[in-house]
Amino acid sequence: MSMPTTPTTLDRFLTPAHRALWQAADDFAAQEIQPRVQRMEGAPHRVDRKIARLLAGRRWFGVTVPEAFGGMEAGHVAKTILIHRLARVSGAVAATLQASLIPVAALLHYGTGEQHATLLPSVADGSVLMSIAVTEPDQGGHIGGMASAAEWDGRAWVLTGVKAHVGNSHIADLHVVVARTSPAGTRTSRALTAFLVQGDQRGVNLVRHTSKLGLHGFSYGQISFDRVRISPNNVLGEIGQGFEAAQSSSILYGRPNLTAVSLGLHETAVSLTARYVSNRPRYQGKLADLSVIQDRLGQMSARLIMARILAYHAVDMLDRRLPCDDELLAAKVLGHDLAFETGNDAMQLHAANGLAEDFPIQRVWRDMQTTYAPAGTGEVQRRRLAENLLQEEIGTKRTPWSVLHAGRAQPPIADEAVRV
Ligand SMILES: Cc1cc2nc3c(=O)[nH]c(=O)nc-3n(C[C@H](O)[C@H](O)[C@H](O)COP(=O)(O)OP(=O)(O)OC[C@H]3O[C@@H](n4cnc5c(N)ncnc54)[C@H](O)[C@@H]3O)c2cc1C
Repeated sequence: MSMPTTPTTLDRFLTPAHRALWQAADDFAAQEIQPRVQRMEGAPHRVDRKIARLLAGRRWFGVTVPEAFGGMEAGHVAKTILIHRLARVSGAVAATLQASLIPVAALLHYGTGEQHATLLPSVADGSVLMSIAVTEPDQGGHIGGMASAAEWDGRAWVLTGVKAHVGNSHIADLHVVVARTSPAGTRTSRALTAFLVQGDQRGVNLVRHTSKLGLHGFSYGQISFDRVRISPNNVLGEIGQGFEAAQSSSILYGRPNLTAVSLGLHETAVSLTARYVSNRPRYQGKLADLSVIQDRLGQMSARLIMARILAYHAVDMLDRRLPCDDELLAAKVLGHDLAFETGNDAMQLHAANGLAEDFPIQRVWRDMQTTYAPAGTGEVQRRRLAENLLQEEIGTKRTPWSVLHAGRAQPPIADEAVRV
C-alpha cells in the first residue's frame, strides 16, 4: 500500500500507522462509497443499510475497542482519521460511523466486565451496531428536561418514552437509552440512568423515517419505547449515572466525531471551489485569475488550516491522556463555524450552478448544516467553555472527563497499535 500525501500541518500528530489508516480510508471511500453517493442523494427517505455493513467489514466500529475484545484499539486520532476521510466523500457515511462510536464510549467507560465480554466482540466486528438515544422531541439539548422514564416493578425496569434525532436509529441493533429513574426534584446528575435496549425488544418502535435537509442515507430519527422491560443486567453503569454516561460520551467521543465530519466536508468545499474557479472562463482567462476571487480562496484556505489543527490537536491530547475537554468543545464549535463560513463562500463562488443537483457543492453545503446541533449546539459549547473558564477563575473547576476516563479502556499510545 502506498503512503498517502497527508497535509504537513498534521505531521506532528500522525504516525506511520495513522498514515496507513488514512490511505485505507481514502481507498475505501473511493472504491466503495463514491459510487453510491448519487444513489443515496437521490433517495432522501431511504435508509441505507449496506454502508454500515461495509464499514463493519473493515472492523472500523471497533476503532477504539481494546484488542482483547477483537477491536483495533487504535485511539482517538485514528478515529478522527476515519471519520474525517469518509466525510470528504460522504457526510452520511461518516455520520453512520461516528453515530455508532459514541455509545461505544458509554459501554467502554460504564459497562461491567460481563457486559464488555458479551458485547464488545460483536461491536468490534460490526455484528452489533449501537446507537445512543438521549435527545427527546421537546427537551432538545437540555438533558435534565427529559420525560422518558423507567420504573422498577420488582423484577425489571419498565421504560416508556420517545427519543428523537437518534443517529442510526433505524439500523441499530442495540440502543443505549438514557431515562429518568428518580422522582421529580432529584438533581439531574443523579436522576437519570443508562440502559442497554435491544432494537427488536417488544415495545421498541421505529417512527417512520422522513427525509432531512442533509446526510441522505443516514437515519437520525425517532424511536418510541412503550413499556419496554429491561433486566437489571442491562443497566449500563449505576442507577443514577445516566447523565454522566451521556455527557462524558458526548464530550470525549461525540464532540471530536462531529469535528471530524465538519473537517471532511470543509476540505471538500475548498477543493471543489478551487477546481470550479480554475475551470470557469471569464474575460480572457478564468475566474481564478481575479484577485477578488483569490482573496476569498485564501480566506477559505486559512480557515481549513485552522480547522485541521483544531481537530487533530484536540484528539491528539486525548490520546496522550492530557486534560482536554475545553479543546474538544472548542474544536467542535469552531470546526463547524469555520466549515460553515467556507461553505457559504463556496456556494457564492459557484453562484447559480451551486444550486444545481449535478454540482456536488450543494450536497456538501446541506450536510454542513447537520453538524451544528449534534453533540451540543454552538451555544451549548460556548456556555460550557464559559462555565469552565469562570470556575477556573474562582477555583471550583471540576475534574474534566478527559482526566476522569483517562486510562479506563483508553488505547495505548504505541504507533503499532493502529492496524488497518
Ligand atoms: C445529524 C444529527 C445527529 C444526531 N444524533 C443524535 C444521537 O445519536 N443521539 C441523540 O440523543 N441525539 C442526537 N441528535 C440530537 C442533538 O443532540 C440535538 O439536536 C441537540 O442536543 C440540540 O437539541 P435540539 O436540536 O432539539 O435544539 P434545542 O435544544 O431545542 O435548541 C434550539 C436552539 O436554542 C439554543 N439553546 C437551547 N438551550 C439553550 C441555552 N440553555 N442557552 C442558550 N441557547 C440555548 C440552541 O443552541 C439552539 O440554537 C442528533 C442531531 C442531529 C442533527
